Amino acid sequence: MYERELEAAAAAVREACRLTRAVQDQVVAARARVLKADRSPVTVADLASQVAISARLAAAFPDDLLMAEEDSAPFAQSPDLERRVLDLARRALPDLTAEQARHGLDRAGHPGGGGRFWVLDPIDGTKGFLRGEQYAVALAMVEDGRVVVAALGCPNLPLTAGDAAGARGCLLTAVRGRGARQQALDGDAGRAIAVETEVEPATATACVSVEAEHSSHDLAQRLATAAGLTRPLRLVDSQCKYGLVARGEVTMYLRLPKSSTWREIAWDHAAGSLVVEEAGGRVTDFAGRDLDFSRRTLDVTHGILASNRHIHDQVLAAAREILG
Ligand code: AMP
Ligand code: MG
Repeated sequence: MYERELEAAAAAVREACRLTRAVQDQVVAARARVLKADRSPVTVADLASQVAISARLAAAFPDDLLMAEEDSAPFAQSPDLERRVLDLARRALPDLTAEQARHGLDRAGHPGGGGRFWVLDPIDGTKGFLRGEQYAVALAMVEDGRVVVAALGCPNLPLTAGDAAGARGCLLTAVRGRGARQQALDGDAGRAIAVETEVEPATATACVSVEAEHSSHDLAQRLATAAGLTRPLRLVDSQCKYGLVARGEVTMYLRLPKSSTWREIAWDHAAGSLVVEEAGGRVTDFAGRDLDFSRRTLDVTHGILASNRHIHDQVLAAAREILG
């Protein structure tokens, strides 16, 4: 089931990662020269990633709808931006026209609902991208509110846990009911991945966003302590956090938005959550409810917990104490 979808999603994400990688390499090189941070490279990479993936999906599944972060509005401000996006996207799609690129961006406003549609974050973790750190290209297919296919490209994630000096660039994929896998972004046979079997809080580990504005470090630390964790929190950008849980490198991912008005967005969690579930883990809000991906914004209580499953209920119980 979903073999064509998985194949198309994985190929599109790989291709987009090649585009975004080239830009991040330039950003990192430029940061060494200029002091003032220039955000435009990430905008170019973000838009080109969406253009390329949108075009590949439209070719493979012409009837499928797309829910994604970007549209072509930024082009109105800057013809130069449009030219740079086209130049980058054409490295993958040489015959791409300007009209196709705009359409690829503007067709992404699907509000959700029933049936099947694709959910894309063309660059998740833009702050990590600009710092030269972790980011992800996150593509998922949703059917009747549940994620059924996921392809999560993590261009800077070491292939082997803990081997920061070794090869980087992982593609994590999952199909509902079929398990989760990791391959090298540059291509290899890949392997099945599984969550950690840790059940002891004292030796369990948790990761959170690098950006404290996105997820409260303070609350996460209090929750971790209340749940009996003793190890320091690991700070990681983007849905790479779900990847770390899925491959058993970290026991759990705590997401506790700081702002009470913030609503979590489908494309920030769709691909990552299926990868964790199919690796044997569990993903819920802090009321213990499954996530419903039928809308652009998620209806979650307090935030999101992704874990190895074994420790999930203990952390939810601690959260009831801390969060009320
Ligand atoms: P992360 O890299 O885990 O910090 O998550 C990056 C994502 O955080 C972005 O894709 C945004 O959609 C999302 N984000 C932006 N502002 C906020 C906020 N105030 N609270 C929670 N998440 C946010
Ligand atoms: Mg994002």
